[in-house]
Amino acid sequence: LVELRGVDKHFGPLHVLKQIDLTVARGEVVVIIGPSGSGKSTLCRTINRLETIDAGTITIDGRELPAEGRELARLRADVGMVFQSFNLFAHKTVLENVTLGPIKAKGVKRAAARSRAMELLDRVGVANQAEKLPAQLSGGQQQRVAVARALAMDPKVMLFDEPTSALDPEMINEVLDVMVGLARDGMTMLVVTHEMGFARRAANRVVFMDGGEIVEQADPETFFTSPSSARARDFLSKIL
Ligand code: ATP
Ligand code: MG
Repeated sequence: LVELRGVDKHFGPLHVLKQIDLTVARGEVVVIIGPSGSGKSTLCRTINRLETIDAGTITIDGRELPAEGRELARLRADVGMVFQSFNLFAHKTVLENVTLGPIKAKGVKRAAARSRAMELLDRVGVANQAEKLPAQLSGGQQQRVAVARALAMDPKVMLFDEPTSALDPEMINEVLDVMVGLARDGMTMLVVTHEMGFARRAANRVVFMDGGEIVEQADPETFFTSPSSARARDFLSKIL
């Protein structure tokens, strides 16, 4: 469903993505882990062209992502993204946060957008917060709203960039549980996280990045018990 071929990216002299080849099949859940600065966020951001790339191709559902234009906007809408910081619209209610995208970008009628939003808020367990402002919610609740907001656009793939790393420990699981549910329902997901519990529960594959490269990839069991590269072993010894 998502395919990167030979993707290269520089920030000035810094070579942040080096010949990245990565495929995520429909319904697959891929977890990306790696040290700080290894290029995980940049990789996510290239997939919906929040970052440009210097070389290579990115294909979503068989269509190559162009540098700009209407086709880019259309393909971007197929990619839902959830960041570390919740990025909700502070002056809109929870419900408005979820309905805005479909109404503005997809021309969905207000009533239809609202009923769909309520379904999604219910699915992530915050339907009873719909009329509140984001600041009145806990971090875990806000992040679940962010997930509902992304899902409201009916994406084909969901990208998560460290969705729980800004959360207090007791709220991490409520967000991970929502993500595990999505995975079980067959959503195609690319997840940057250091939550190894999530990787073990939900990932089909773990991709280890270091220094802008994909160093190795394997199923979670294999990766966590017998990583093949010294760099992965070193990284795991620091976080486990
Ligand atoms: P972390 O685990 O800390 O989130 P990461 O793996 O997500 O790290 P990236 O954020 O992708 O890493 O950054 C990769 C490298 O690119 C880092 O060296 C970072 O400093 C650099 N970088 C990221 N964004 C920019 C930018 N807009 N301009 C210049 N350099 C950048
Ligand atoms: Mg990052």
